[in-house]
Amino acid sequence: MKPDIRSMNKEELISLMEELHEKPFRAGQIFSWLHRSLVENYDEMTNLPKSLREKLSEYPLNIPETVTVQKSEKDGTRKYLFRLNDGNLIESVLMRYEHGNSVCISSQAGCRMGCRFCASTIGGLSRSLLPSEMLSQIYKIQKETGERVSHVVVMGTGEPLDNYDNLLKFLSLISCPDGLGISARNITVSTCGLVPQIMKLAEEKLQITLAISLHAPNDEIRRTIMPVANRYSVDELLSACRYYFEATGRRITFEYSLIEGVNDSDECASELAGRIRGLNCHVNLIPVNPVKERHYRRTSRGKVLDFKNKLEKYGINVTIRREMGTDIDGACGQLRRSRISGN
Ligand code: SAH
Repeated sequence: MKPDIRSMNKEELISLMEELHEKPFRAGQIFSWLHRSLVENYDEMTNLPKSLREKLSEYPLNIPETVTVQKSEKDGTRKYLFRLNDGNLIESVLMRYEHGNSVCISSQAGCRMGCRFCASTIGGLSRSLLPSEMLSQIYKIQKETGERVSHVVVMGTGEPLDNYDNLLKFLSLISCPDGLGISARNITVSTCGLVPQIMKLAEEKLQITLAISLHAPNDEIRRTIMPVANRYSVDELLSACRYYFEATGRRITFEYSLIEGVNDSDECASELAGRIRGLNCHVNLIPVNPVKERHYRRTSRGKVLDFKNKLEKYGINVTIRREMGTDIDGACGQLRRSRISGN
């Protein structure tokens, strides 16, 4: 099989040019067409000789196809369903904020982490996405809207640190100044907490924001909702977070989805505060999105506020995540899920 040309960095394109007996400067031209002009076929690369375009045509560009776009009437949020070349479906979301346009991308088709409240994991993992398939979600959305994407969150379907090498390649390509050049500081990667990969990522010293899906103040509760908690304890996870902060200087975000009667009590709030106090971090609260196949209920608005106040009393930075696009589909993975199961 031919290598995936849209997942290649400039050095790799230069080697490919050598193989094809072409001048190295062609690599820069091709890179710029693919990652800055966002063209979807070789014929548009008008400054390349026809002979080179012909040679390149043997390397399929594997552009995903847009299946549906749902537009929120409320807040301009758009939800995209894409079909990959092998038929796998993935979804991405565009959110419009005052500070710019943010795209939430998927890192895998499906997921094998098994979080009980999450729709993305119900059918298991189909496969990990290539760097080009992560890029395409952003490129397609920027082209469709004609608006610049300034922020990226890797918070869609999949566990990004379970697709580590492709994720890193993606991060370097999306932040490359000769491509879209999205600054690492505007990129957030969310993980359910794979400790060894967090340690490894810390060593890369990227300026991205790391978000940890914590969702519980202790192992006992966490194990009832997140199987990954059986592999790594909250203590181990928090040590990895400290290490990440020391290595990168980047403040950690903790995601905490409030589930009625499971993790939303006053005791949970004080235990959480006690454990993360002293760590340079920020907590993002969100009432859980009910998923049809699951029985969890969301914490009421009033109780969410109580939880927030309690954390603040202990001096923790906390925000309630603004929910967007609530009129176009519910929780993470639900659009893809409803397509797959046909309801
Ligand atoms: N696997 C990664 C990224 C994808 S999930 C991770 O676990 O972080 C993105 C975020 O949405 C995570 O914090 C996840 O726990 C949360 N999430 C998943 N399903 C949800 C639901 N039904 N309601 C609220 N948050 C949910």
